[in-house]
Amino acid sequence: METQQLLQIANEFGAPIYVYDAHKIESQYHRLTSAFSKVEKLRINYAVKALSNISILKLFKQLGSGLDTVSIQEVQLGLRAGFSPESIIYTPNGVSMDEIEEVAALGAQINIDNLSILEQFGAKHPKTPVCIRINPHVMAGGNSNISVGHIDSKFGISIHQLPHILRIVENTGMHINGIHMHTGSDILDIEVFLYAAEILFDTAKHFKELDFIDFGSGFKVPYKKGDIETNVEELGRKLTKRFLAFEKEYGRELTLAFEPGKFLVSEAGFFLAKVNVVKQTTSTVFAGIDSGFNHLIRPMFYGSEHYIENITHPKGKERFYSVVGYICETDTFATNRRIAEIKEGDILSFRNAGAYCFSMSSNYNSRYKPAEVLWKDGKAHLIRQKENFNDLLLNQIELEF
Ligand SMILES: *Cc1c(COP(=O)(O)O)cnc(C)c1O
Repeated sequence: METQQLLQIANEFGAPIYVYDAHKIESQYHRLTSAFSKVEKLRINYAVKALSNISILKLFKQLGSGLDTVSIQEVQLGLRAGFSPESIIYTPNGVSMDEIEEVAALGAQINIDNLSILEQFGAKHPKTPVCIRINPHVMAGGNSNISVGHIDSKFGISIHQLPHILRIVENTGMHINGIHMHTGSDILDIEVFLYAAEILFDTAKHFKELDFIDFGSGFKVPYKKGDIETNVEELGRKLTKRFLAFEKEYGRELTLAFEPGKFLVSEAGFFLAKVNVVKQTTSTVFAGIDSGFNHLIRPMFYGSEHYIENITHPKGKERFYSVVGYICETDTFATNRRIAEIKEGDILSFRNAGAYCFSMSSNYNSRYKPAEVLWKDGKAHLIRQKENFNDLLLNQIELEF
């Protein structure tokens, strides 16, 4: 998207606001499917938690994607968006048996990641096909909050417990139709990923009725200039080759599945916020924006760096700014960042604001969540209104004293 269009949207709908470029979402989706074009049965399940606006889900539906979900509510959103239950995989962690049974009744593909639930579910519903989430204990890098494949991670069933899994499957007679892994959020080294894939193939041999192997996600996208990103094309070439060979060996057609969130939507998103104050102190210049970690928490939560540009005055002389929010706690978006000279009232654009940005927003400080706009076919479509005062009071019970 052009910054001119972003500025127009900020003017028309007001800031702070999230803007998503449908074309970028589509091109990322096609980049992934092209990289695996030699795989007969490829399934991309978009990870809903990255950005769960129903219009975004419908866009993915139109692209032919399935969904990866982590809560029953995400499953329900997917069904509401028109996805068939079979095109939704449910990969919860630490949720109740009740919720898993409810989701199974809705018809979504269940993916189980602990022995206790596997045993209970298998005993009660031996006919419902189940996928098993394996933890191959391969650490693929990234922030420790998002690396989920290491030895002490709470995610997945340890590969070392395979004998126990097999015993449960045999005793319950349950039908395992898929094997899954999701190692972490940043695949930088393809060889490390392929190593984890080998562990999954080895595991798959123990199950005779698999329909799919799900390699999770972990595709890294660049956040700032010079950032390395997952080489999707190289991964496509190498994993396809291994997958096709394994399929032959296995003797049955298999679907290769992925469930990316960030890769599909991160770069499509822009967060636009107005500068309220420029504050010169003895040590630094603060640009205080009309937002805070209630709208965009990733920089404070993960230390993520979002590229920030001044779209009102993009051509000004660059100066150093610390970009901060209005929350009554330290909420620093960026420290000593070079940005074209900022005047009060300017609109700053934060890049990579598609994944885990709006979906992690809150009403902290009793602020409204911002509006969301989808830019598609040269038009700005409002896909969520900015909240209002009634939204803040919704579900609150006012006592009279
Ligand atoms: C969060 C999550 C994903 C998506 O991860 P990204 O890094 O956004 O691609 C995929 N699968 C599972 C099980 C997840 O929890």
